Formats: sequence, structure tokens, C-alpha cells
Amino acid sequence: MATLFKDVYILDGSREKAALGHVLVSKGRIVSVTEAGAEQSADLNLKADKIISGHKRMAVLPGFVNAHTHAAMTLVRGLGEEAPLMEWLTEKVWPVEAKLTAEHIYWGTLSAILEMLATGTTCFADMYFEMDRVAEAALQTGIRAALCRGMTADSNDKDKINKSLSENLELADKWHGREGLITVQLGPHAPYTVPVEDMKKIAKAAKEHGLGVHLHYLETEFELNYIKNELKTSPEDYLINTGLMDAPHLVLAHAVYLEPELADKLKLSNLTLVHNPCSNLKLGSGVMKLSEWLDKGAAVALGTDGASSNNRLDMWEEMRTAALLHKGVNKDPVCVSALDVLRMATYDGARAFGFAQKGLVREGWMADLVLVDLDKPHYIGANCENLAAYIVYAGSSADVIGTMVNGKWLYRNGDFPTLDKIEIMQRAMTAREEITR
Ligand SMILES: [Zn+2]
Repeated sequence: MATLFKDVYILDGSREKAALGHVLVSKGRIVSVTEAGAEQSADLNLKADKIISGHKRMAVLPGFVNAHTHAAMTLVRGLGEEAPLMEWLTEKVWPVEAKLTAEHIYWGTLSAILEMLATGTTCFADMYFEMDRVAEAALQTGIRAALCRGMTADSNDKDKINKSLSENLELADKWHGREGLITVQLGPHAPYTVPVEDMKKIAKAAKEHGLGVHLHYLETEFELNYIKNELKTSPEDYLINTGLMDAPHLVLAHAVYLEPELADKLKLSNLTLVHNPCSNLKLGSGVMKLSEWLDKGAAVALGTDGASSNNRLDMWEEMRTAALLHKGVNKDPVCVSALDVLRMATYDGARAFGFAQKGLVREGWMADLVLVDLDKPHYIGANCENLAAYIVYAGSSADVIGTMVNGKWLYRNGDFPTLDKIEIMQRAMTAREEITR
């Protein structure tokens, strides 16, 4: 089935400005991207089974990649609000999470996928447990996912990390590359929850198995002090000496306290930082040095983190917050542009998790697209030159009218063609009742 987006604005993070034209999609790929012209468009009409006429009032963007989340945490949203990170985790979240079954996680993940699809996300990077069920939920939906088993040590169960690592490697054997929709990484939770020797073992396994590593790194000042005072090392030496820097790709979520001056000591080509501005603000963790990292040429993706520390799974919100926050903090209105955050929310996230040819609206690339309704008052005045700024500063996820993965609609005008929204919501509500009883 070939779909033609006709007379639409085309925008992605690699363009100086948007273009007016047509996008033809077939067999999961973008077949052609052509600038507007009557002759070409008549020709394209013949190739399409379905034509979506944008009338210059719709935009096609690459689908968003939520580069750090814990999808099933939709089930613990709202618990322990407005508490410090450690108190929130240890007293509010972890005791409730301990009650989660594989079934709960399945429905909690599907519930998250409803939210993500409705807001234009076509891929999410998830760190949690019972990841087989997360993979099933993703595959059933048709959304792309980058999955890792979150690993933490437990003083009461010395073998816990080994068991989790085995689970993570089994997850990779079973799911990595599946239908081109799923990739698997190793997911050590953080330096303060995984002892150094175990971290080294995980880094070694990543290298041996050719898998990326996705971990929380320097989210709070506590973690920085822990590395310095307890582990007696520096943030850069920790990454180098544990072997994490030698993993095929290293994804550091948060990196609030990672100093951009360290860029020269780290292998930037192997590294992606994930900025989670809303979560960092809500938990009072601090603000990462985004504009300095971008100046250093680092790849930075965007993520929401879990629904209980955000509390949205909405990449539009992350783009807008990232673009505003750093201008204010740096007293510099040009430091992080709308195009910067659009590229971070799409291309940089896809690259971090091993999805090649995803994240731009380009011929031959994956047909993971978002259709945006520009026929709204807040888009009056939008044109090719300024569309990115309209999307980031004036737009919101309420403007999403379609989300497509692999050329297939997973969300269209309020409906989810591959999902039973009512059943998912009922099951997620039941799960929530069971774990908070
Ligand atoms: Zn997280």
C-alpha cells in the first residue's frame, strides 16, 4: 500500500528550513520526497493507493524517538509527588514496583504506547524489567522499541545482577533486530546501584555481544559525590576504567552533572547523552549543560523519563522545554534552536539505539512519520522559513493527527488501528488498583 502526502510542509532536523512538496511512502520506506510541482504531483498520484491532501495546511515530520523512558511506570504515575529523588524512589516507587507482575507491566506498557503514539512518538527506549512482555507489547502495536533490562544489585541477593545480565542477554538473543522494529541494549541502572566489578562485567558483555549500553549517569549531585567520594574516581575515569566507553554505543541518560570540558577525554562518536529536561526539573535534579555539549559536537537525544517523574510521555513538551530552558539559564536566546531540539527528538535518538535511516524525511529512509495539522489559529503565519519555530514554540502534541511506523498508521485522528484502547485502559486501571491496594 503506497500513501502519498500531497502538498504538505516537509521538515526534519537536517533542513535549514521546511519545504513544500510531496512525500510518497511504500513498503515501510519513504520512496520519494519531491518539492511542489504540478507535473511531478500528477505522476505521483498514479503511484499512490491512498492520497492525503495537505492543502499546504499539514506538515510531515519524522516520528519522535523517546530516548529514555520506563514505559510501564504509567502505573505508578502520581505516587509520591514532589519528593526528593532518593526518597521518591526508595519510599514511594520501589515498594510499589516490587508488586508489579509481568502482566501488569504488559498492560502498563501498552497504556504508555497509547500516549506515545497519540503524541507522535514512533520509537521508545525502555529500561525496565519483565522486558519480554514489553517487547511483546511493542511488537503487537507495531511501534519501534529499544529495550534493556534495568539491572540493580541487591545486598540480600548476591546473584541478582548475574541473573539480570543473563535475562538481558536472553532478551537480546530473542528480540534484537526482530522485524526491524526492536533493538536491545544492556541496562545497568546506574553507578550507585551497580557495583564497579559488575559494571565491568556488563561492559565486557556489551563488547563481546556487540550490544549498546543504556544507563542513568550523573542525574543528581548525589551521584557525582558518590563517584568521587565512595568510588574514589572521576566521572570520566569511571566510564573509561569500567570499559563502558568501549561498548559499541554508550547512552547516558540525564548527564546533568557531566561537565562538557570532559568531551575531549570521551569517545564522542560512541556516545549519546539523553536530555530529560522535564524530569530533571520536576525532581529538582538540576539542568544539564546542553548548549555546551552541542557546541562540543556531542550527540544529544531527548527523552521523557518515566511517567511518574514527568508526568507526560510527550516529546513536544520535551522539545519546547529544552529549547526554552537553556536560553533562560544561559541568558542567551540563540543557544539551543528549534531545529536543534527537533533533531535531538528524532534523528539523534534513532542513531543512539541502532536504528539506521530513521529520523529524517529522506528518500529511502524508514517511513516513521508524524502528520501535523497546521490548520489551527496558532499556525497562522507559519511558512517554510519559520515552521520549526512554530512547531516547537507554538505547537503541541494536540496538533498530531497521524503517527505512522513502517508506513503503517498506528494512530490516526484519535484512533489506534492496531490497539484496543478501551481494553488497555481498563486493564491498566485494574493493574494500578492491584499494586496500590
Ligand atoms: Zn530513568
